[in-house]
Amino acid sequence: QFESDSLRLYPDPNSIDLRQCIADYHHVALENVFVGNGSDEVLAHAFYAFFKQQAPIIFPDITYSFYKVYCDLHQIAYEQMPLDDNYRVPLASIPTNNGGVVFANPNAPTGDLIGSGDIELLLQRNTDSVVLVDEAYIDFAPSGSSVDVLVSKYDNLLVSRTLSKSRSLAGIRLGYAIGSAPL
Ligand SMILES: *Cc1c(COP(=O)(O)O)cnc(C)c1O
Repeated sequence: QFESDSLRLYPDPNSIDLRQCIADYHHVALENVFVGNGSDEVLAHAFYAFFKQQAPIIFPDITYSFYKVYCDLHQIAYEQMPLDDNYRVPLASIPTNNGGVVFANPNAPTGDLIGSGDIELLLQRNTDSVVLVDEAYIDFAPSGSSVDVLVSKYDNLLVSRTLSKSRSLAGIRLGYAIGSAPL
C-alpha cells in the first residue's frame, strides 16, 4: 500500500479536514471557511457572486492588477479611488452607495498597511455591500493586523488569504476566504 494509491479517488469535495484546520487556525467555525485553487480563484468566485450589480465596486487605483481583470471578465462596473499623496488607501472617503469594496491589505505594490481600526470604521458605515479584504501579504505585517477577528461581527466582511507568499507554497494552489456562513 502506498499513499499514492489514494490518488485514484476523488478528493473530498467539501475539503472538510483542510477547512477545519484553517478554521482552527483562525478561531472560526468550519462554515466560515471557503477554499479555492489559489486565492485568485477565491477572488474570481467572490467577484462573480457579490459584485455583479448596478452600483460600481470600488478599489484603489494602485493595487493588485487582477481586480480590474476580474471586473472586465465578469463585466462588473468599477471605480478606482486614487491613493492619497502619501500613497495610502483613503478608506474614509469611500461613498457608501457602492456595489462592493475591495482592497489588498497590506496593499501591493505600495506595502502600505491600513490599521484594523480604520477598516472597522468603514464596516460600521458600509453595511449594504460586501467588503473584501485581500490579506495576501498580511503575514509580513505586525501580528494583530488581520481583520479575520471582525468576521464574527460583520456579516458583509470577507477576508481572503493565500499560501503563495509568506508560506512560499504558490505551486500548491491554495487560497481561502474567511467570512460569515451566509457569505
Ligand atoms: C499573489 C496575490 C494573490 C493571488 O495569489 P494566489 O497564488 O492565487 O493564491 C491575490 N492577491 C494578492 C494581493 C496577491 O499579491
